[in-house]
Amino acid sequence: MPLGSRTPGQPGPSPQLRELKETVRTLLGLDDDTAVMVRQLACTEPGCPPLETVVAVLPMDGAARRWTLLQPAEQITEDDLRHALLAPDQDHHQDH
Ligand SMILES: [Zn+2]
Repeated sequence: MPLGSRTPGQPGPSPQLRELKETVRTLLGLDDDTAVMVRQLACTEPGCPPLETVVAVLPMDGAARRWTLLQPAEQITEDDLRHALLAPDQDHHQDH
């Protein structure tokens, strides 16, 4: 499943995703020059849940970081985000 594919029936950023972005920004103490992307993706990898949420942080002058949370965006709490973001970068399938 290529990055950038959208979940059917989800035409654009939802308030939920926007809220998650703000939480990421707050948790990591990011400034406005750092882009944050939160996307919900359908995943067809064996062993993956049908919907995952990918969080990406893209600093202007640094290496991008990316995490995959194995649950739909609507189920992600601030605690989930905190655990994921403060752990070492992790992505269970960098290849897709
Ligand atoms: Zn996956």
